[in-house]
Amino acid sequence: MSDTIDSAPLDAEEISQLREKHYNGEIIERIDSHSDLSRFRIRPDLPIPPFQPGQYVAIGLGNWEPRLKGTQAEEVPEKKLRKLSRRAYSISCPMLDGDQQLAPVDQIDYLEFYITLVRESDSPDKKPPVLTPRLFNLGAGDRLEVQKKIVGTYVLENVAPDDTVLMLGTGTGEAPHNAMATKLLADGHRGKIVNVTSVRKRSDLAYALEHSALSEKFPQYRYLPFTTRDPENLDPSHPNFVGKQYLQSLFTSGQLAKAADDPLSPKNTHVFLCGNPAMIGYVAPGADPLPTPGMLPLLKAAGFRDESDGEVGPGTIRFEKYW
Ligand SMILES: Cc1cc2nc3c(=O)[nH]c(=O)nc-3n(C[C@H](O)[C@H](O)[C@H](O)COP(=O)(O)OP(=O)(O)OC[C@H]3O[C@@H](n4cnc5c(N)ncnc54)[C@H](O)[C@@H]3O)c2cc1C
Repeated sequence: MSDTIDSAPLDAEEISQLREKHYNGEIIERIDSHSDLSRFRIRPDLPIPPFQPGQYVAIGLGNWEPRLKGTQAEEVPEKKLRKLSRRAYSISCPMLDGDQQLAPVDQIDYLEFYITLVRESDSPDKKPPVLTPRLFNLGAGDRLEVQKKIVGTYVLENVAPDDTVLMLGTGTGEAPHNAMATKLLADGHRGKIVNVTSVRKRSDLAYALEHSALSEKFPQYRYLPFTTRDPENLDPSHPNFVGKQYLQSLFTSGQLAKAADDPLSPKNTHVFLCGNPAMIGYVAPGADPLPTPGMLPLLKAAGFRDESDGEVGPGTIRFEKYW
């Protein structure tokens, strides 16, 4: 564990006892895309209960654990020092195994997570991020808590084999889509599976190799990555200048349908939105509209409907907000 701030005021013996008491899972592998973005493979001590692709589980770490250097400092009050803090994480998927065969979540004995490091708070109260500064201090062999219950309603329900499945994610919001896409392919889904992700830079595409292998193997699979902060997004003199590629404008301009090679019609398309709330654009009843519309109003204008409006099926929009 290098690069840590040793903020732990408890002695080594007590820390060891607390870990022994609370932790029930082990990091078996950590795959870094860069310093702030990683895939964590975690094996719970007990067998993983059956769950559906798209669901999530909470991960916990003790407040006594040290934080990564270069992250916002946190004062932990004495009464909270021996407690755990937990956060929810969608269960992602390795997609392919070492033999390049499909590896859906029900055929592996660990949970894969796709997590970004939040170095400091961007909220008005400036409350320091709790979990990721501690998690990113850990590697293979380190232990943590994985809550026993895997939960969530963001799942593939009522998707017929020839339907189109359109998944739009920002950043690590791709995680549940990777689990869903792999399951659909393993089940022989015939309709288009369009896995779209919007990230800042190409270096934030942690699963690019897997997606490209899947696209070659399965003609119905489309992986569409878009960036907002690479040189071709920011520099008008760049030979391939395209501007910032936000999902909202890609959808309304028709570029997304063109890239997907599919009309993305509400008649046979299921939409899944995951990640940044601004992309999703949910507005609670009675609240002010957002300054820039998210995908929800744009999709509704195109004939899609909320999952709360009647039976879930083609034309339904399902979403998972990360904050
Ligand atoms: C159902 C659900 C599933 C989730 N799945 C994932 C996942 O698969 N991967 C993942 O990285 N996060 C995921 N999150 C977010 C996660 O629960 C934590 O909020 C996040 O890891 C930050 O935790 P923290 O304690 O370090 O910071 P917090 O104290 O929780 O700080 C939260 C702030 O961090 C920022 N933030 C939170 N999550 C992200 C993110 N993913 N990308 C960019 N900024 C973020 C926001 O500004 C937010 O206000 C999920 C959240 C929910 C509700």
